[in-house]
Amino acid sequence: MPRHPGPKAEKIWNNTSYSKYTLLADCELKWLCQSVLKIPRFEIPYAILGTVGHNYFRKFFTPHPKTKRFPFEQKEKLIGSFKGAWWSAVSGKFGFEGWKSPPVKVQWEYPQQPAVLFNQGVKILSLFHENFVDVRQDGTPRIVERLYHFKLGELTIYAKLDRIDLEKDGAVITEYKGTQPQFLIETGTQFTLYQMAYELCIRRKIKNHPPLKAIRVYFYGSGKIQEVPLRSAEEMARLTYLLFEASAYLKGVLTGCLPHPKLVPRFIQFNPLNIISGDMPPNLPRRDHCKHCAYYQQCRDWEEGKLPTARQAFQKKFHQEAQAAQVTQQILPLGEIPIVVQMTDSFSTMLSSFCPAEQLPLGIVEQESPLIS
Ligand code: SF4
Repeated sequence: MPRHPGPKAEKIWNNTSYSKYTLLADCELKWLCQSVLKIPRFEIPYAILGTVGHNYFRKFFTPHPKTKRFPFEQKEKLIGSFKGAWWSAVSGKFGFEGWKSPPVKVQWEYPQQPAVLFNQGVKILSLFHENFVDVRQDGTPRIVERLYHFKLGELTIYAKLDRIDLEKDGAVITEYKGTQPQFLIETGTQFTLYQMAYELCIRRKIKNHPPLKAIRVYFYGSGKIQEVPLRSAEEMARLTYLLFEASAYLKGVLTGCLPHPKLVPRFIQFNPLNIISGDMPPNLPRRDHCKHCAYYQQCRDWEEGKLPTARQAFQKKFHQEAQAAQVTQQILPLGEIPIVVQMTDSFSTMLSSFCPAEQLPLGIVEQESPLIS
């Protein structure tokens, strides 16, 4: 019998984003460990440099709310701020996203790596300053690193765009990237999804609803800017189908609820047989997608048959969360207040005249999880 999930669990297959979808498409076991089981992992050094860079790109383009002046007028100030933040984070004082973020553990590959990446960071920020210090003063309204979400049927899609410049003849989306292969520039789902986000959500929120003029990538290693071809309606429709398929597949594997029979033969990304077994296998053999995977041990355990299936792991996790919530309810002192006890007793007596005592809906401890029944 399939178990029925609750609203919190439903977000796992109904809420998605470019990174969540790509993670799933790369390797299902990696997705399970990271997105559902939330197994702690070390941060990857190169990913950290990207995070810190994005943090400074956002600050650089954000004027002070009162004075409207931009920070880091001189390049030295930008580099000085980065220097302090980087080495404090490396020493474990706080996280790489600023002094308010919690410290993180990084899997440094060799002892000099923090210094090597620091020098790369200095070059990236210097170049960024040179390229944009005048641009940010040109009077163009800009939206910087804002998270949007929009609905597609039951799906909620999240998209965080690095920068939108509202130019006179239309909006320009700029994404900051370290590298990006040409085929992803031309056909990658990230830009398709961002275009959908603009057309279906962002455009309506902007005064005069400007059309999307262009999508560009700024490569922060070289300082080059590249145009991204705008996607056709067919490409957006295809991505919509892929997102729906991913959602139906996840729900099926994790809960045992079968997708619509007409949908199953049309699966193009996932193996519908996994819905029967309830498992999410790793994407073997290991190749490029495994380079920065933190779940090698879970992957080996899966190969040796030591890992529970995805469905078992999912249901155990949500049972535990539901039980933890019930424990919190039971220690509330409300039930010890005499008037509450008295009211509960008389309510029970009243109910028992309508239904047998064993069916009374008052046994909180005996109730099954509200998330999975
Ligand atoms: S090592 Fe590779 S195949 Fe195994 S879980 Fe990680 S990404 Fe997937």
